[in-house]
Amino acid sequence: MTSADPGSDGAAPVRDVIIIGSGPAGLTAAIYTARARLAPLVIEGEPSSTSDQPGGQLMLTTEVENYPGFPDGVMGPELMMSFRVQAERFGAEFQTAKATRVNFDERPFVVWAGDERHLGRTVIVSTGAQSLLLGLPNEERLIGHGVSTCATCDGFFFRGQEIAVVGGGDSALEEALFLTRFASKVHVVHRRHELRASKIMQDRAFANDGIEFLWNCRVSEIHGDERLEGLTLTDTVTGERSALDVTGLFVAIGHRPNTELFADWLDRKPNGYLVTQADSTRTNIAGVFACGDVQDDCYRQAVTAAGSGCQAAIDAERWLEAHGH
Ligand code: NAP
Repeated sequence: MTSADPGSDGAAPVRDVIIIGSGPAGLTAAIYTARARLAPLVIEGEPSSTSDQPGGQLMLTTEVENYPGFPDGVMGPELMMSFRVQAERFGAEFQTAKATRVNFDERPFVVWAGDERHLGRTVIVSTGAQSLLLGLPNEERLIGHGVSTCATCDGFFFRGQEIAVVGGGDSALEEALFLTRFASKVHVVHRRHELRASKIMQDRAFANDGIEFLWNCRVSEIHGDERLEGLTLTDTVTGERSALDVTGLFVAIGHRPNTELFADWLDRKPNGYLVTQADSTRTNIAGVFACGDVQDDCYRQAVTAAGSGCQAAIDAERWLEAHGH
């Protein structure tokens, strides 16, 4: 069979692989499946969105210094454009639209995007996750210019500087502890007087001289035109306002995986991330695979997402072969 046979209704062709999402995971899956001559269709998302924009979360970053192969660093959007060009070179097709509905009861599987209805023998889900933001003016605009949602990615840029981390969970403390390697001072801004983080993380953070806790505080204003220039904090008990003179703000108040679309079909963990079977990208539905941040609540790195995209492509290819396609 070719990779795009006419569908049973004579309309939409049946594709071997439909990939939903175009971050490092989805585009790596596209490169691998395209090179395997499976002519994948990538439903890449919508440019106007901050949650499912083509290219994923790296489109919201500036310089990426930890992606192997780029000793001088690379801009996030440029890196993702290179992934895309590489996938296109081997025949991947793209639809710039958001997937709005799926039906994994029928075979071939059905995916709706924009005005189109696609049929696929396999589907690779790589819709990623989004960092939760505070929702303040300037916040999104200054991402990559002092505001960050990833200490592993951006900590290095704040050597010798005073910065803030907002949040009181394990992520916030993990980021704060990591950031003490670079920053001269890390202020953890938490809206209550009690942390949500595990005891062991709390003990580590309290024992670290580089961390100072600002209790019962919320960030109420983010200042800066070109770069972050400081914050206004508001005391959640007294309402008193104060200035915090920092050059970096790490927002660590949690992540939300983009899995709502699949809620009726795919098994999810209590925190919403998709469940994949051990040592594979298989979901609970045979022929549907998941890779990248949508199923990873632990590492959340571009390089780990790309690695799992490769795994999903190989899993899909083997599945098609085993089923005579
Ligand atoms: P989380 O546990 O949900 O904590 C989110 C924190 O952000 C809470 O302290 C919350 O405050 C605060 N927050 C939420 N919305 C806010 C807002 N709008 N403004 C200000 N503060 C806000 O999320 P997480 O820390 O990302 O952790 C998620 C899961 O991953 C947890 O199960 C965690 O244990 C796990 N994790 C584990 C590790 C590790 O073991 N090394 C590392 C990272 C994450 P409140 O406390 O007031 O609600």
